Amino acid sequence: MLPRLHQHAWMDDDIEAFREQVQRYVTRELAPNMEAWRQQGFIPRETWRGFGELGFLLPEVPEAYGGSGVSLAYQLVVQNELARCEVPADTAVHSIAANYIVDYGTEEQKQRWLPKLASGEHLAGIAMTEPGCGSDLKALRTHARRDGDDYVINGSKTFITNGCTASLLVLACRTGEEGSKGVSLIVLETDGLAGFQVGRRLEKIGMHASNTAELFFDNVRVPAGNLIGGVEGQGFVQLMSQLPYERLLLCVPAAAVIELALELTLAYTRERKLFGQTVFDFQNTRFKLAQVATQAHVVRSFVNDCIQRLVDGTLDNEAAYMAKWWCTEEQGKAVDECLQLFGGYGYMAEYPIARLYADARVQRIYGGTTEVMLDLIARKL
Ligand SMILES: Cc1cc2nc3c(=O)[nH]c(=O)nc-3n(C[C@H](O)[C@H](O)[C@H](O)COP(=O)(O)OP(=O)(O)OC[C@H]3O[C@@H](n4cnc5c(N)ncnc54)[C@H](O)[C@@H]3O)c2cc1C
Repeated sequence: MLPRLHQHAWMDDDIEAFREQVQRYVTRELAPNMEAWRQQGFIPRETWRGFGELGFLLPEVPEAYGGSGVSLAYQLVVQNELARCEVPADTAVHSIAANYIVDYGTEEQKQRWLPKLASGEHLAGIAMTEPGCGSDLKALRTHARRDGDDYVINGSKTFITNGCTASLLVLACRTGEEGSKGVSLIVLETDGLAGFQVGRRLEKIGMHASNTAELFFDNVRVPAGNLIGGVEGQGFVQLMSQLPYERLLLCVPAAAVIELALELTLAYTRERKLFGQTVFDFQNTRFKLAQVATQAHVVRSFVNDCIQRLVDGTLDNEAAYMAKWWCTEEQGKAVDECLQLFGGYGYMAEYPIARLYADARVQRIYGGTTEVMLDLIARKL
C-alpha cells in the first residue's frame, strides 16, 4: 500500500490497482530469480519481454506507440515495486532513454523505436559518462562525424547501466564545437553493429544484478536519421530538460528502500532475544526505529509531493535537485542505522539488509552526485 499520509490527486484508485498488478508480477516472476541474477551479474534482456507485454515497461508512452498513454507517475509506481524486491535500475534507464524519443524524436523515430521499447523487444541504455567526464558532462569527447547519409562514431563510455544487455543505446556524443552546444543524442541499435564493442562488465560493491559496462565505438556507422530530433547540437538541452523526472526515478526507490529496511528491522529485532528480552525492547532500538520511521514518512511525503508536481507540470529543477540529494542521503543513513540493529548478521550478504546497505551507496553518486545537486541548488539561492 502506498502511504497515503498526505493524499495527492495522483494516487487514485486506477494507479493503486495498477500498482497491485505490478506488485503481484514482480513478487511472483522476478523476486524468486534475484539471487541467481545477482550471482551471474545481470538480468537477462528477455526478462523484460513479459514485463512489456503486460504494459509495465513503458506505461507512460502514448498508446499510438505501444504504451498506455498514462502519466509518468505510473512508471514511478513500477519503480517503487521493483525497488521493494531489490530489482535494480534496468527499467528506469530504459524509461529515460525512451522518454528522449517520446519528447524529442521525429514521427518516424517514434514509430520505429517506441513500440519495440514498450514491448521489451529492445532494452535501452543511456550512455553519457566517459572515463574523462561524469559530472562535467559537457566535456564529453566521444564524437560523431557526418559522412554522407551516416554518422561515424568514435570514442568510449563507462559505467553504463544495461551496457551488456541493451540492444538500443541513446548515446550522448559530440557533433560540433567544444562545450554543451556541440552535444547531440544519437540512437544506436547495437545488436551486430560493426565497430561497437562492450568492454568489461564492471564489478561493483552492490547492485550485483545490474550490469554496468564500458562501451567502445570504433568507426561505428549509423544512419544520420538516428539523430534524435534531426537537429544537431540539441543534446544538452534535451538531456537537461528530462532531469526532474530522472531524479524522481532515484527518489522513489530511496523512499521504498527506507520503508523496506524499517519493515525488515522491525521483524528481526522483535524476533532476536538477548539478555532476556528482544532487541526491540531496548530503548535504543525503539528510538532508532522511531527515527527511521520518521525519515520514511518525511521522505515519502516529499517524494509524493514531487510526483504530484511532475504530473501537474510544475516540478522545478531545484525541487528535483533537493529531492535527489536529500532522499538518497536519508536512504544511506536509515539503512545504516537499521543494519546496526542486526549485529553481525547485518554484515552477511545473505541478509537483505546487508544488500540494501551496499546497494544504497550508489544512489548518492549516479544520476548527479550529492555535491553536484548542492552546487546547482546553491546557484539559485
Ligand atoms: C553503478 C553505476 C551506474 C551508472 N549508470 C550510468 C548510466 O547508465 N549512464 C551514464 O551515462 N552514466 C552512468 N553512471 C555514471 C554516473 O552518472 C557518474 O558516476 C556520476 O555522474 C559521477 O561522475 P564521475 O563518476 O565521473 O565522478 P566525477 O565527476 O569525477 O566526481 C568526483 C567527485 O567530485 C565531485 N564533484 C564533481 N563536480 C563537483 C562540483 N561542481 N562541486 C563539488 N564537487 C564536485 C563529485 O561529487 C565526486 O565526489 C553510473 C555510475 C555508477 C556508479
